[in-house]
Amino acid sequence: MTQHRPRIGVMGGTFDPVHHGHLVAASEAAARLDLDEVVFVPTGRPSLKQHASVTPAEHRYLMTVIATASNPRFTVSRVDVDRPGLTYTVDTLADLRAERPEADLFFITGADAIEQILTWKDAERLWTMAHLVAVTRPGHTLSLDGLPEDAVSLLEVPALAISSTDCRERARRGEPVWYLVPDGVVQYIAKHGLYRGHDV
Ligand code: ATP
Ligand code: MG
Repeated sequence: MTQHRPRIGVMGGTFDPVHHGHLVAASEAAARLDLDEVVFVPTGRPSLKQHASVTPAEHRYLMTVIATASNPRFTVSRVDVDRPGLTYTVDTLADLRAERPEADLFFITGADAIEQILTWKDAERLWTMAHLVAVTRPGHTLSLDGLPEDAVSLLEVPALAISSTDCRERARRGEPVWYLVPDGVVQYIAKHGLYRGHDV
């Protein structure tokens, strides 16, 4: 009997902080693509956000663990947090493939990111390593020019106009982030005084 190859979604992000837009996108991808698991992969130092001040990786990692803990299909990987240097998706996928050689990977990414994907390091290798899943995101229309057609699936997710940038701005101004991020993440932000007095 041939065994079913595990289908694993890979949700990369800065997750500064993780919010319900990320979680809904992952959940929809899991349901629609029949994924066995979605691995959230917080970046180490994101190569595309070198000029922005990004919260230390350990905080972003722990918030992602808290946010995903209740879902049996969601896991969090430290591959990017633990790899020295800047984070590139090609390295993320290579590490996950080495850890899970028996699995098929589905790299889940928002419309804003997929449009830039051709500029990423080793872009043409990405779709040999994982199937790409482009999720719609409020405020972004999707253009897939230059991407091989069979390498990408489009996925419409319920529009949640939430961004980490907005959550950080709210926290900085002392405004609520309740219901934009999971309750445990609201409490984690308060406990550690994250995003206070920082530029977003
Ligand atoms: P920032 O505002 O700091 O850029 P962000 O909200 O875009 O943060 P990221 O960590 O950059 O969050 O995003 C990780 C991935 O999740 C990206 O592929 C992004 O497109 C996707 N994503 C973020 N917010 C949403 C949302 N509301 N709906 C669907 N996908 C989203
Ligand atoms: Mg973003």
